[in-house]
Amino acid sequence: MSRQTQAIIHADAIISNFSRLTSLAVSSKTMAVIKADAYGHGAVNVAHILKDHASCFAVALLEEARLLRNNNITAPIVVLEGPHQAQECAQAKHLNCILVVHNRQQLQWLKQLPKAVRPTVWLKVDSGMHRLGFACHEVGAIVNEFGEFFDNNTVLVTHLACADDVDNAFTAQQIAAFADVVRQTQFPVSIANSPATVGWPQSHGDWNRIGLAMFGSEPLSRGGSSVALAPAMTLGASVIAVRKVKKGESVGYGQNWYAPRDSIIATVGIGYADGYPRHCPNGTPVWVNGLRVPLVGRVSMDMITIDVTEVKKIACGDAVELWGANICIDEIAKWAGTISYELMTRVSPRVPRIVVPDFER
Ligand SMILES: *Cc1c(COP(=O)(O)O)cnc(C)c1O
Repeated sequence: MSRQTQAIIHADAIISNFSRLTSLAVSSKTMAVIKADAYGHGAVNVAHILKDHASCFAVALLEEARLLRNNNITAPIVVLEGPHQAQECAQAKHLNCILVVHNRQQLQWLKQLPKAVRPTVWLKVDSGMHRLGFACHEVGAIVNEFGEFFDNNTVLVTHLACADDVDNAFTAQQIAAFADVVRQTQFPVSIANSPATVGWPQSHGDWNRIGLAMFGSEPLSRGGSSVALAPAMTLGASVIAVRKVKKGESVGYGQNWYAPRDSIIATVGIGYADGYPRHCPNGTPVWVNGLRVPLVGRVSMDMITIDVTEVKKIACGDAVELWGANICIDEIAKWAGTISYELMTRVSPRVPRIVVPDFER
């Protein structure tokens, strides 16, 4: 490894976050959502870290489940988008996956399968988000028409559009609309994602689905979660050059920043090709040698520049934290005009993931 650029994945943080979140909903079971390579933390890593803690995992796509199976993960896996192709239905059974079915096409594909190779099917209900699922008023008819797929393993699933905003009345509306459907069908239910698990106890169901908060990011948009979460990722890099610039000189592409005084500039070996957001403006905090210092100049593909004039000692090789225990990923997301979900999932494959402590596979 040439550069010091890496994402440290803190196994103990993932385990303690998961157990704290599950303790918020003691009468629910919890599936660990590890789609999109476990939000950038490494799905195989995280599944192994949680092996003795999570009884069930969820992913978006069947190929994400296949990767886990190929790496000795045996717990049930819920495929949140269901099949995208007819052949994925039989593959799901073979891979011991549960398919969340959200449209008629998927039910038709399943119907063509011999009973023996049909996977367990859960049913997605659109309670108001209007992205995936059967409308509340359709569910009764679907359950009748396709009754052969549904048994006591079936779960009714819905997803909340605004759970991160604890003041938004739409969440209660969605929960009420869904409750009507549930009364008709009597299946177990799954409603809550991370923000709902933390902020909406009335959304806790038989199964909660936790992704983001497990990685230590604040799930409520205004903050204030009562549960203490630890960051699961430290995105780190190192200083690769140090120079002096005179007052009035510019730094980086487009002369986006001019030194307001004689300054010391450190160049750090991480850029937007590694997933550090190019939208971070001048002033975005970076942690080096015990101090928060500002990003100055545009983010390049492989490098950033920071103003280290206030840092007492700086040298090539010094460690830099882009986010982690000292710089909260939620803060960087705000500077970049996005959310922590996007920052985590965009850490690129060029950045090695280093799990600490080293976990047995
Ligand atoms: C991604 C996803 C989740 C997890 O959401 P978080 O907010 O990350 O906890 C839950 N349910 C569904 C349907 C999802 O797609």
